[in-house]
Amino acid sequence: MGDACSSPQRSGGARPTTDFTRTRALFHLPEGVIYLDGNSLGPLPLAARERVARLLRDEWGEMLIRGWNDAGWMDQPGRIGERIGRLIGAPAGTVVMGDTLSIKVYQAVAAALEMRPERRVILSDHGNFPSDLYMADGLIRSLGRSHEVRLVAPEEVADAIDRNVAVLMLTEVDYRTGRLHDMARLTEAAHAAGALTVWDLAHSVGALPIDVRAAGADFAVGCTYKFLNAGPGAPAFIYVSPDHIDHVRPALSGWLGHDAPFAFDLDYRSGPGIERMRVGTPPIIAFAALDAALDIWDEVEIDDVRARSMELGERLIAEVETRCPDLVLVSPRQAEERGSQVSFRFEHAWPTMQALIDRGVIGDFRAPDVMRFGIAPLYLDAADMVRAAEILTEIVAERQWELPQYQERRAVT
Ligand SMILES: *Cc1c(COP(=O)(O)O)cnc(C)c1O
Repeated sequence: MGDACSSPQRSGGARPTTDFTRTRALFHLPEGVIYLDGNSLGPLPLAARERVARLLRDEWGEMLIRGWNDAGWMDQPGRIGERIGRLIGAPAGTVVMGDTLSIKVYQAVAAALEMRPERRVILSDHGNFPSDLYMADGLIRSLGRSHEVRLVAPEEVADAIDRNVAVLMLTEVDYRTGRLHDMARLTEAAHAAGALTVWDLAHSVGALPIDVRAAGADFAVGCTYKFLNAGPGAPAFIYVSPDHIDHVRPALSGWLGHDAPFAFDLDYRSGPGIERMRVGTPPIIAFAALDAALDIWDEVEIDDVRARSMELGERLIAEVETRCPDLVLVSPRQAEERGSQVSFRFEHAWPTMQALIDRGVIGDFRAPDVMRFGIAPLYLDAADMVRAAEILTEIVAERQWELPQYQERRAVT
C-alpha cells in the first residue's frame, strides 16, 4: 500500500503518462461496440477469464474445502480490501470486501447512528441513489427510535447540516447527472456540527483521485463492478476510519466478523479492527475476477485517468451540443464539477438510447428522461466520442426513436 506507483516503469525519474492504448488492449470489447456504460457495469478484463478459470480448475476443483486455508480464500476480503484501499487513500487495515453495496451502506449507517445516540437525523440529498435511501429508511424503521431521513437538494446540503444531524450520508458523484460533491469540505462541515459522514464512492472509485483519510471521512463504501470492472455482482467494500474501527459495533453480526468464528461461541464478540465488518462466507469466484481487474489499476495513474476523462467528457459534450441541440446537458458543464459521466436530457431518451444501443453505442437511460454516458479512459478515446456523437446525430435527425422496436421498456434500463 501507500506507494501507488507499483509498476516498475515508474521507479525513478518523471512520472510517465499512463499508456491508454495498452490498457484498452487489456479488455474484451465486442466488435463494433463503443462502450459508454462502464459506470454501470465495466467490461470484461481479459485476465479475469483466465483467473476465474484457474480458480475453478486448480482451487475449487482440486483443493475442495482445503482452499479456504491452502489457497488463502479466507483472507481475501482483507487482502483485496488493501488493494481497494490504495485507490481510495485508505491506510492499511481499514477496508474489507463483501456483500453488495446496499448492505455496506446499511452497515456504515447503522454503525454511525449508534455513535450518535442522542441525534435523530440522517441527512442526504435527493440526487442520492435510491437504494442508499431505502436502506437508511429500512434501518431506522427497525430501530424504531423516531429517526428520520432528511433529503435536501444537492446544492443545499452544506446549509442543512445542523446539530440534529447524526449522519451525513452522501454519494460523491450523482448517479444521474454526474455532479460531484466536495467530500473534504462537506465532511469538515459535518464534523463541525458534531455529525459523522458516510460517503458512497460507487461512481468515484476508478474514476477520480480519492483520499478518504485526507478528507476525514468516517465511513466510505463502494462497489467494484462499475469503473473497477470486476463483473456483475462483484463484491462491495467498506472503509472505516482508523479513529473508529476499534470501537464500532457491527449491526450485521455474522459469524465471519466474529473474533473467533471457528470457536462457534453462542455469543457474538466482534473481531479485530475492520474484520468485524465482514458478515458471511465471501464470494470466492467473484474475488478471482475482482483481483484480476485490480491488476490493471497497478499500471495506471489515477490522475492521468481523471485528466483524460475530463478531456473525453468535454469532447463528447461539444460534439453532441453542436450536432443535436435538442439534447440538454444535465451534467455540470465544468469538468471539475463532474464525475466520469455525461448526461443529457431528451424527451425521447428511452427509445433513442435503444436505437443507439442497436447501433453499438451502449450507454443507458435513467428515468424520467436522461441519457447517460460513462467515460472510462482505460478503453475509450476521442475517436469513440466523435463516432458516438455522429451515430446519435443520425438517430435524432432521422427520428429513429419513433421506430416501434424501440418503444418497449425493459426490466433493466
Ligand atoms: C450502483 C449503486 C448502488 C448499487 O448497490 P448494490 O447493492 O451493489 O446493487 C448503490 N448505491 C449507489 C450510490 C450506486 O451507485
